[in-house]
This record gives sequence, C-alpha cells and structure tokens, in this order.
Amino acid sequence: MNLRRVFVANRGEIAARIVSACRSRGLQTVVATSTADVGSMAARNADRKVVVGGPRAHESYLNIGALVGAAVATRCDGVHPGYGFLAENAEFASACREQGLKFIGPSPQNIATMGNKLEARRYAMECGLPVVPGSVGIEDIHQALLMAHEIGFPVLVKAAAGGGGQGIRIVDDADALKSAIEYSRGEARAAFGDASVYIEKYIPRARHVEVQIFGDSSGNVVHLYERDCSIQRRYQKIIEESPTDGIPQRVLQRMREGSVKLARLIGYENAGTIEYIYDIDSREFYFLEMNTRIQVEHPVTEYVTGTDLVDAQLLVAGGLSLPWDQDDIQPFGHSIECRITAEDPSRQFHPSPGIISEWFPPIGMGVRLDSHAHLGYTVSPYYDSMVGKLVVWGNDRPAAVHRMVSKLAAFRIEGIQTNIRLLKAILEHEDFAQGLVDTKWLERSLPSLL
Ligand code: ADP
Ligand code: ADP
Ligand code: MG
Repeated sequence: MNLRRVFVANRGEIAARIVSACRSRGLQTVVATSTADVGSMAARNADRKVVVGGPRAHESYLNIGALVGAAVATRCDGVHPGYGFLAENAEFASACREQGLKFIGPSPQNIATMGNKLEARRYAMECGLPVVPGSVGIEDIHQALLMAHEIGFPVLVKAAAGGGGQGIRIVDDADALKSAIEYSRGEARAAFGDASVYIEKYIPRARHVEVQIFGDSSGNVVHLYERDCSIQRRYQKIIEESPTDGIPQRVLQRMREGSVKLARLIGYENAGTIEYIYDIDSREFYFLEMNTRIQVEHPVTEYVTGTDLVDAQLLVAGGLSLPWDQDDIQPFGHSIECRITAEDPSRQFHPSPGIISEWFPPIGMGVRLDSHAHLGYTVSPYYDSMVGKLVVWGNDRPAAVHRMVSKLAAFRIEGIQTNIRLLKAILEHEDFAQGLVDTKWLERSLPSLL
C-alpha cells in the first residue's frame, strides 16, 4: 500500500482513533496539535506531534496553510481530516493534493458537490431517491413566501452549506419567515462563510436514518447498513444505534440501494454517509444530505458488521481495493452509542470545562469507549464538549439497551459536569425501549427526564 506516514489534522477522540488505526497497520503518524492540546492522548501515542497554532480553531485546526505546511515538513504522504474542522472542506483536500499528499477521504470535487445541499439534492433525484418537498434556493422574501405557501407551513429554513445543525430554523407562519431567513443567513455566513439558504417541508414526526457507504478507487461501492440517530437536541445527534428498528425492511432496502447508486453516480471514494429523514406518519423517506467523511457514530456500524472503518479508509486511500464485498457484510446483533459531553443538562447544557479529578470508565464484555480523556485531563473551553463515546453491543436491542444502562451507571467522572445521568434516563425510558421516539422526542421529554 502506498501510504507510509499519516498526518492527523484533527484533535480529541477521533485523532486518537486514527493514530491507533495507523499503528495497527504499521503506519507512522504525525499529529497536529494546537497549543491547548500539546499533551493530548493522540499526540502522546503518535510518532511525532507538530504544534500548528494557537488554541482557537482558526489558528490551528482550521489553518490550512499551517496544517499542509507541517504535513510536508514532516514528510507525511497522507492526511486524515477526521470529522468536523476541515473534513468537508474541498479547498483543504485540494491543497493536500497539490502538495502530493493523499487526502484520506473523497475527491475535492465530491466534497464540493455534496457540501452544497441543493446540489446534492439534484444528484439524489437523478438516482431516483425521494427528496424533501420544497428545496429551492431563496432569492428574496417574496419568492420565499410563495414557496412556503405552496409547500405549506411549517417549513424549515436551512443553510445550503450547513452542518452540525447550524442555520436550521422552523417557521410556523408567514410572519416569522423573514426573520428566520435573516437568522439562518447570519448563522450560515458565520459558520460556513456562505449565506445561501433554502426552505423545505418540515416533517413533524420524523426519524433520522443514515446509510454508511464505502467506495474505492476501482469503482467498487458497498453499503454497511444503516444507523438510527433520532435522539437529537438542536438538530444534533446524542444517541445512535444500528440496526434500525420499526422501519419496514423494504424502505430500508430502498435507502441502501439508492445510497450505493448515488455513490456510484458521483464516483465516490472512501467512507461516506447518506442521511435520510423518515416520516413516521406517511411512512415515506426523503434524502437529506451526504456527509463526505467518517462520522462520529461510525463505531455502532463497526460493532454490528465486524469491520474497522478507519482501517478501511487507510487501505482505500493507500490504493488498495475495499477489504469486503457486499456479501461479506452481514450485520449481527445490536449496537448503541452515547455521546458523553462535558455539559450540565440542568443548566441549559451549559459547557462545563475543567480538570477531570476522577475517571472510572466501565469495562467488560461488549463495551467500547472511544475517548481522549483521562484522569487529570483538562476539558478545554475552546472545543466541542464531547469527552468520549460510550458504545455497547448486545445480541438484540433489549440486551444492548440493558448493557448501556448498566455501563452508564458504572461510569464515574468527577471534576466536570456531564450528561451521563440524562443519557441513562433516556435509555431507561419506556418510549426508548419501545422505539417510540422521533427527532423531537428528547426536546419534548427533557423536563420530565431532568
Ligand atoms: P455526525 O454527522 O458525524 O454525527 P455531526 O453532524 O455531529 O457528526 O458533526 C460532527 C462534528 O463536526 C461536530 O463537531 C459538528 O459541529 C462538526 N461539523 C459537522 N458539519 C460541519 C461543517 N459543515 N462545517 C464545520 N463543522 C461541521
Ligand atoms: P446538518 O447538515 O446540520 O446535519 P441535516 O439536513 O442533516 O443538517 O439535518 C439535521 C437534522 O435536522 C436532522 O437529523 C433532522 O432531525 C432535522 N431535519 C432536517 N431536515 C428536516 C425536515 N425537512 N423535517 C424535519 N426535520 C428535519
Ligand atoms: Mg446531517
């Protein structure tokens, strides 16, 4: 394989995860760190670290010049972008390519195409995938009003370049439309440097279902089944699982086939995820977007399919074929992931940075903790509040739920506030056990859960 030394352009648990995958493959690693992360787990486990800038993301993890310069200077031949930061930045992927560095992800063209949700939607339609009704770019308020009346309120205003739930706004009536568009434009400009927004029909009772796909440079594409990510707050996922319960298999099969078709159509290479929304009332599903990177919740897919997705990313980027055929991928059992965050749910999820003074993670059969935290670790106020992902596997969904509850109960963290008690309350709720949740369930249920 033509990769020897990998530059890790990210931080936190995913940087540690990538270093570990590289080591297992016998690849050398160089980790980029900000001045706030010099002692990080990824940096300690890597062969080398390079401090690329100050603690603020734009000084370091979003600093294309500094990152590419450091990768070249340390004679790396590949760059792994992780998720978030520059993972879906076509300019970064191009800059790597221009310096002869293999970007461990899809081509800059694929990133750019799928990074614009309106453009992505056109490709999805070409593959016969249903898309959410509405969705045209907004030129002015008059056209937006016409569109919204045609679709019917409530509608959703979304950022075309969006990600991480940013720039999304529900609009109940015509009066609220103008200010919602202004709000979304402002948030999108600040977060993505692109103020374009669009509107689409709002699905009030929905599940979030996404299909993991993988392509290689020879044109092979497989899917690795789906994940349900319906436990969300502010359009961001908190609990994810695989497989998906309570959605007809023929619907899921159409999602899988459509996802593979879309990846083939655009000549997609490496790991990607196609996100859908499933309308519980009409039992229809719609294409939402494609994420052109490894996702936070990839471990649940790894657990049920017995694959190592980050390892496969390295193989494919190194010019090898996919390590599996479609028939090799046979899901078994059930897996659930909880995102553990340093936040105080009882105080509107206020971030809770600080030093971890006690750290007793759960151990045992069927449990995995992807985390960069440890005793004495300082949770920095500069970054995302996620301190780890607790992932379990069980023979079936009830077994996985039971295991997650007991592992959450056993997880002791002191020195910072965390969402562990809230996660446990969700897992223990009758609605969760019965699979009666939708993407707004958590927000509705928060008062009683807390
Ligand atoms: P996933 O889709 O993998 O579950 P999220 O949507 O929660 O992950 O996003 C993963 C991380 O990347 C989060 O920290 C989120 O804020 C960030 N992120 C996602 N999309 C973008 C984007 N387009 N630009 C910048 N950051 C993003
Ligand atoms: P992002 O790029 O920020 O991840 P998505 O388009 O994937 O944006 O949407 C994020 C979340 O917002 C979805 O998981 C879902 O919960 C909600 N959402 C998006 N579009 C709709 C819709 N048309 N109707 C209802 N909920 C939606
Ligand atoms: Mg999304």
